[in-house]
Amino acid sequence: MKVLVLGSGGREHALAWKLRQEAGVSEVLCAPGNPGTAACARNVAMDILSPADVTAFVQAEAVDFVVIGPEQPLAAGVSDALRDAGVAVFGPSQAAARLETSKAYSKAFMERHGVPTARARICTTAEDADAAVAAFGAPVVIKADGLAAGKGVTVATTAAEALAAVDAAMRQGAFGSAGSIVVVEECLTGPEVSFFVLCDGARGLFIGSAQDHKRAFDNDEGPNTGGMGALAPSPLVDDALIDRVMRTVVDPVLTGMRVEGTPFAGILYCGLMLTAEGPKVIEFNVRFGDPEAQVVLPLLGVDLAPLLVAAASGRLPSDPLPRPSGTRVGVVLASGGYPGPMTTGHAITGIDAAEHLEGVLVLHAGTRLRQGSRLRQGSRLRQGYGGQVGGQVRGESAKSGEPAQDAVVTSGGRVLTVVGAGGTLRDARDRAYAAVACISFEAMHFRTDIAARYV
Ligand code: ATP
Repeated sequence: MKVLVLGSGGREHALAWKLRQEAGVSEVLCAPGNPGTAACARNVAMDILSPADVTAFVQAEAVDFVVIGPEQPLAAGVSDALRDAGVAVFGPSQAAARLETSKAYSKAFMERHGVPTARARICTTAEDADAAVAAFGAPVVIKADGLAAGKGVTVATTAAEALAAVDAAMRQGAFGSAGSIVVVEECLTGPEVSFFVLCDGARGLFIGSAQDHKRAFDNDEGPNTGGMGALAPSPLVDDALIDRVMRTVVDPVLTGMRVEGTPFAGILYCGLMLTAEGPKVIEFNVRFGDPEAQVVLPLLGVDLAPLLVAAASGRLPSDPLPRPSGTRVGVVLASGGYPGPMTTGHAITGIDAAEHLEGVLVLHAGTRLRQGSRLRQGSRLRQGYGGQVGGQVRGESAKSGEPAQDAVVTSGGRVLTVVGAGGTLRDARDRAYAAVACISFEAMHFRTDIAARYV
């Protein structure tokens, strides 16, 4: 089976890395990919937000199956176009993706179907939102309706902060049309967990849990980011919690989506807060998380491709997946200044040394090849972990090229995710940080406390 992965982040590198090792997959293509995916896939340039371009490419290349990594192509209707053209694709329809792409839709849907979530008011005018802030009182959460790259949510500790957030979104247009509607909601407290369920339109299969670290700096300080590190599985998610979330969240979502004519097939990523009253949904995403995918996918004890194909064709197995053996900790190495203004184009050293350590996987995101550099064809493909850890790790022999050591430079905010494997979170964490110590680039920054509170 020839598989095309859409996207270019650490999540897509993890997807390509996993798929490339599977017997049923003959070739992986990645669009546009990055220098890391080039080691396990054929990178292809493409506008992945253009349904017509993606469909034309897939037909010309006789791709058998498309896996959509990020949310933007889903919001742009790429999965619908592919399905209409008869192409097998993993990723929900544009209509079903509204669970993520519209917080107002998602909140109203949860209320219609009795899914536990924060009490909220959907506001279409700034005056209405101001009144909702007054009614809820501080602390209160203000959410821009549309996609805002993780920046559209303000957890306000004072009414003044909340009113300023309403003003920015609804009067100043800080998020463009994404902020023309806001959701004002009750502030919940409790630990947050990421809960991943593979869905085929009718059935859901739990495939893993993780914990993200959203703030830029240690001790959860600094601004929100796309995610500075993750661990899996979450020590807070046990069998009882899995049962409860499947029953109280996932089943009503799948039934509700079906009844409303927009069945959900894809990854349902439930962002949960474990409150004193039980788990409540903070948000849904309709794709794997990043950096969670980088720690969840390596723990999957079975092949991914058959599961994704089964989900896409309404035939998920009913048996639960085997429990993950071992743990993973992923540390994100970011460019100085991220998530604010940053400089890029700095040479990255030490990736090779890091990958040689036992139990280490380095996944690329904001990297590119220095201009004029080429992939070193035929060099050894560092495709597996540096060692055999956790019982599921396989290396591979060369199938394509890897970048020469000094050829990779930074090109974005989150540059690499360094993943350590281990029987315990402590082992996995130690491995990840030992590998981080090998890597450097100008102004590199990372959190030193990923998973620290769980070891
Ligand atoms: P991302 O796409 O980056 O995951 P987002 O912009 O979709 O984030 P949310 O996940 O809905 O936004 O919220 C971001 C963060 O704000 C959450 O991870 C959580 O820490 C906090 N948050 C959101 N809603 C609430 C709430 N009702 N009570 C307390 N905290 C909340």
